[in-house]
Amino acid sequence: MPFPDLADRLVAVRQRIDAAVKRGGHGQTVTIVAVTKTHGADAVVAAWDSGLRDVGENRIQEALPKMDAVAEPVRWHLIGHLQRNKVKALPRFDLLHSLDSDRLADAVDEFGVASARPVRALMQINVVGEESKGGFAEPEWSTAAERLHRLRGVELRGVMTMAPLDADERVLRTVFSGARRARTALCDAGHPATELSMGMSNDYELAVEEGATLVRLGTVLFGARPT
Ligand SMILES: *Cc1c(COP(=O)(O)O)cnc(C)c1O
Repeated sequence: MPFPDLADRLVAVRQRIDAAVKRGGHGQTVTIVAVTKTHGADAVVAAWDSGLRDVGENRIQEALPKMDAVAEPVRWHLIGHLQRNKVKALPRFDLLHSLDSDRLADAVDEFGVASARPVRALMQINVVGEESKGGFAEPEWSTAAERLHRLRGVELRGVMTMAPLDADERVLRTVFSGARRARTALCDAGHPATELSMGMSNDYELAVEEGATLVRLGTVLFGARPT
């Protein structure tokens, strides 16, 4: 059986999440998005069999064949950068986490309007201004929120962020509390922004303490990724 440790790992992760919700005091419900990138369809089936319902992939080219190979009705999340010429794949995903620029927002909007089905998305933000990562920087959150509110083809459900790889606790808290502020800016602009997608295998407990509603977990569930 593939991923024989998954059930036990999941029990431990859920306990850590529950404890972090208590410590953080935000009282939120946390959904685990099982990140199956680089694994085969068997990881998706194993996730489903252990009770997980949400699966994350970061590349369209990898996600589509995996979707075709899996019969289980999992909710698919797109968590990596989306090229504008690939927006037509969006109906296969429940949520786009990585709306990371105005240009992409316009392309997604155009598609959502044309297909008469608004695309559910999160605004990806870049709190500490990392050059290597996309996303909206803090000075533009409010103006971007207002501009995005005029787009009928996008339904903005919240915020996604990624912390720098080597961040210490202080930086992590800066990043995650920044995401909370960005979500407030979205709510103030009238978006139904309830979600905070933040936290990966090595920082999810702090993210949950800071209010994460979606944690994107790969390694801690499935072990090291095949290279
Ligand atoms: C790969 C990936 C994850 C999961 O990373 P782990 O450290 O294995 O938990 C989460 N979010 C994004 C955007 C990813 O690309």
